[in-house]
Amino acid sequence: MSKYILSIDQGTTSSRAILFNKEAQIQGAEQQEFTQHFPNNGWVEHNPDDIWHSVLTTSRNVLSNNQISADDILAIGITNQRETTIVWNKKTGKPIYNAIVWQDRRTSDYCEQLASEELSQSINEKTGLLLDPYFSATKIRWILDNVENAQQQARNGELAFGTVDSYLLWHLTKGQVHRTDATNASRTMLFNIHTQQWDKALLELFDIPLSMLPQVMDSADEFGTTHSDIFGSPVRICAIAGDQQAALVGHACFEQGMAKSTYGTGCFLMLNTGDKALTSKNRLLTTVAYRLNGKPTYAIEGSIFMAGATMQWIVEGLKLLSHAGESESLVKDVPLDHGVFLVPSFTGLGAPYWDPNARGAILGLTRDSGISTIVAAALQSVGYQTKDLQKAMERDGLRPSVLRVDGGMVKNNWVLTFLSNILGAVVERPMLSETTSVGVAYLAGLQTGIYKSTEQLAEMWRCDRRFEPDMSVQQRNSLYDQWQHCVAQVRLTNENCKKTHNADH
Ligand code: ADP
Repeated sequence: MSKYILSIDQGTTSSRAILFNKEAQIQGAEQQEFTQHFPNNGWVEHNPDDIWHSVLTTSRNVLSNNQISADDILAIGITNQRETTIVWNKKTGKPIYNAIVWQDRRTSDYCEQLASEELSQSINEKTGLLLDPYFSATKIRWILDNVENAQQQARNGELAFGTVDSYLLWHLTKGQVHRTDATNASRTMLFNIHTQQWDKALLELFDIPLSMLPQVMDSADEFGTTHSDIFGSPVRICAIAGDQQAALVGHACFEQGMAKSTYGTGCFLMLNTGDKALTSKNRLLTTVAYRLNGKPTYAIEGSIFMAGATMQWIVEGLKLLSHAGESESLVKDVPLDHGVFLVPSFTGLGAPYWDPNARGAILGLTRDSGISTIVAAALQSVGYQTKDLQKAMERDGLRPSVLRVDGGMVKNNWVLTFLSNILGAVVERPMLSETTSVGVAYLAGLQTGIYKSTEQLAEMWRCDRRFEPDMSVQQRNSLYDQWQHCVAQVRLTNENCKKTHNADH
């Protein structure tokens, strides 16, 4: 009897393969990093071969290191960095250009040229997204425009586009299958999230032939079977979901109103809105949370660019600490009203501001501000930015009933205590830290029938620690008012700097 589910977690900086038993306990894990390419200012690329080989190596190693054969694997689930765009030749399987990564800003000018009021609104209504280089559509356009003969090949039906999940599926099946799931499709800016179809008008607008696009499946579905050469004998591929959506599933946020927030390099907050695709008036995104048995469940999503990355800057840039883990004991006696604020808009501000030009600042310094105050301000900035997202959701009429958290930063109890206090909400940290991988293992388990329902999965979820707010409303409001004032000041300063700069030239 097959006993395990293999989760492939293909992330931005590394690929991981994790084996779960039927009780969703980890039986083995392998990880491999790969090279990031920055060929130009604001450009970020991966070599698709590196992505594929890191997935293949980690998957094979996790089996061999645990003396497990392909026959012991019940099914595979794939979760992946979202939006990253690969175009390859259908005959040879060879990519015609590197993978253009979600962070890549090369199509900013193109987006600005397109951005009429009417088009932005129509894109938002159909796809739930904002017209932005972040999503796949303009990246595909760039590849077709910049690789010799590509547009013609695309018209001839010779090329395939996929997000990373599709590219991996193609290789796992040796070119037999060109499919994706609804969560990944919903990040391309070509998919109508209401009709669950590729949108003809958007394909025409970006001049992308339908023949390039993968077939869109449920998140738990029969995606195909691995070619025997890959693991020795064929294995079913039964789940695909984008990484943030997989984390939502891994947190068992299946009820409308439940939210999760992942604190890694950046932060992604996602709130389940049930079968309604709500349109935000506050620049949050609407996306497919998961699709099961043909029925989409939707979510509202807000992202912050700098969460753990601010701590990386504190450690590697300022060298104030030797590693991020030291921060908790350093700040434990710092009073919360120390008056220093770090606005980490190093690369602009994400939701709900979407201000690409804002730059970072530390405000409120006095002679007694020391390293511990600055580190506390850095950690608190994550709480304040989450509060910005919470406020935007509230303005859209939404209030999370519970916030479940994961990612490297949530080991830090001081951060979660502050987060709960500044939000005025309960924050829950799960026992199992591999939320993204377990999410896609849950989906694969649903498809194979080892899990009967999402209700059963919700019962399996275990809390490690619950953080309840005990800050006075007055202190919460006062701190958050000061934060908002600091953000406004930073944005104003940047505006003024830009004006002076332009006047000087
Ligand atoms: P990613 O998956 O985006 O690479 P991880 O989820 O592995 O990120 O989280 C790593 C991030 O968490 C790093 O940016 C690091 O600075 C931060 N981090 C790790 N441990 C702590 C800690 N104890 N306190 C605060 N930040 C931490």
